[in-house]
Amino acid sequence: MILSRRLQAAWRLLRWGELGVRLSACPLCERKRVFVRLAHNEIAVRCTGCGASAVTLSMVAVLRKLAPQLHRLGVYELSARGALFAFLQQHAQQLTGSEYFPALASGQYHNGVLCEDVQALSFSDASFDLCTSTDVFEHVADDGLGFRNVLRVLKPQGLFVFTVPLCAAPATIERAVRNADGSIKHLLSPEYHGDPIGKTAHILAFRNYGGDIVARLIAAGFASAEIVWPQFSIWNFTRPVVVAYKHNQQHSAEV
Ligand SMILES: [Zn+2]
Repeated sequence: MILSRRLQAAWRLLRWGELGVRLSACPLCERKRVFVRLAHNEIAVRCTGCGASAVTLSMVAVLRKLAPQLHRLGVYELSARGALFAFLQQHAQQLTGSEYFPALASGQYHNGVLCEDVQALSFSDASFDLCTSTDVFEHVADDGLGFRNVLRVLKPQGLFVFTVPLCAAPATIERAVRNADGSIKHLLSPEYHGDPIGKTAHILAFRNYGGDIVARLIAAGFASAEIVWPQFSIWNFTRPVVVAYKHNQQHSAEV
């Protein structure tokens, strides 16, 4: 049933003029796989072995380089399904995953899935070695509060590795704000994102991040942050990955 739904979603996404098939190395599968491009879109480019998109595979390529000791790390991933979650489940020492359910408080469960609002995480301080997320923070109303929550639950040597859509502009463009009463005030025309093959279509983007995302992480309390380009590309689709360190440590941007 799930497969059938995904096939139907993939079929709707398919643009015949943009269809492509290619054999290439998959950083998640760690072997050559057949990739399919359903459309000229990083989410529509998938490894047929693991199902991961070009965005997820950019994350995995960076994680393999930055955290080769993943098998010794306790990880918190801000989702509880998908190819990245499955990868972490297989490789991390311990994995906690969650989803955001607007009607539930952090720490509650919905059909066995932990609910967490990244603006109010229920975990104790210094709970994790590594936090990860893909394309979540542009949907968080108060991203600074979200960053501070991630910082709090990281151990002293912890790091935060995540993706957001990044535009070339130096400054982040705020598109919407949440009022104190919970209503949304749109500053620009509403922009919605989602994974059309998964279940997360049509989620409001509060902002389009620019190069100042690094400064925003420092302002939230991280000791250092950088934008890392992965050594992964398929049909020229690759996604820069943001890496933030709770405390200063030796690291290299040459991933
Ligand atoms: Zn794969």
